[in-house]
Amino acid sequence: MPGRLADKVVIVTGGSRGIGRAVVERFAAEGATVWFTWIRHEDAAREVESAVPGATAIQCDGRDRVAVEAAVEAVLVRDGHIDVLVCNAGVAVNGLFAMMSAEDVDRCLDANVKGTIHWARAVFRPMLLRRAGSIVTVASVAGLFGLAGQVAYSTSKGAILAFTRGLAAEAGSKGIRVNSLVPGFVDTDMTATIPSPVRRNYKDRIVMGRFGRPDEVAAAALFLASDESSYITGQALVVDGGLSSTVI
Ligand code: NAP
Repeated sequence: MPGRLADKVVIVTGGSRGIGRAVVERFAAEGATVWFTWIRHEDAAREVESAVPGATAIQCDGRDRVAVEAAVEAVLVRDGHIDVLVCNAGVAVNGLFAMMSAEDVDRCLDANVKGTIHWARAVFRPMLLRRAGSIVTVASVAGLFGLAGQVAYSTSKGAILAFTRGLAAEAGSKGIRVNSLVPGFVDTDMTATIPSPVRRNYKDRIVMGRFGRPDEVAAAALFLASDESSYITGQALVVDGGLSSTVI
């Protein structure tokens, strides 16, 4: 049986590790040709490339608009079109606002917000020409509610949610859908450094009592990317084990 992404050309940003890697694996297993980006961890990117048939790594910093446009051009030259963009690459910049440097704020907003906008801009025109496409941005529950020590990160993820709704409103009549994934706490390198007591405290607040797995987020990404969500746009799909459903 053909996969749900058979013959689709997909770009996944930040596919070398964590959630992005799980998306690369799942999408390739569903028949997609997958291009994924990395920035620093070449070994991890090459490992994904060799483990996942149909996946190709590109080193591309999402903060660099010119590099993003060149990467999109390279995909178009090779595959002719782009069906899906998953804007997953991001950084967590933690720390109390009073102690945070202006450089740290810039680093967070540049990687998370500008990176998302650069990629969406670069694929938007080719998608418009075909009047087809699905863009999936990756926000966070931190963009839905306040969390001490995450002011810059929350700001970046709230901006991604607003960007997604705005772009969806412009793109809907042109055959392009734009939705957000909103993960809660997921076991990746990004959350590996959370100290044990803090981790326990977070787990206590999660209705399902555990952090999520990257493949559980990838399953939701597949739904939003594929035609199974053909009448859904401008929405935020929360994948957080019930964390945001309760005040406890
Ligand atoms: P991760 O394990 O730290 O992996 C981050 C990925 O993004 C890596 O592939 C990294 O490449 C890439 N990356 C970072 N900055 C980049 C840049 N400027 N240009 C290109 N690639 C870049 O992170 P994760 O936990 O999988 O998180 C993935 C996304 O989910 C992020 O947007 C994050 O904010 C969001 N999220 C995560 C959680 C969670 O609990 N883990 C919760 C909510 C939302 P290298 O390998 O080369 O460094």
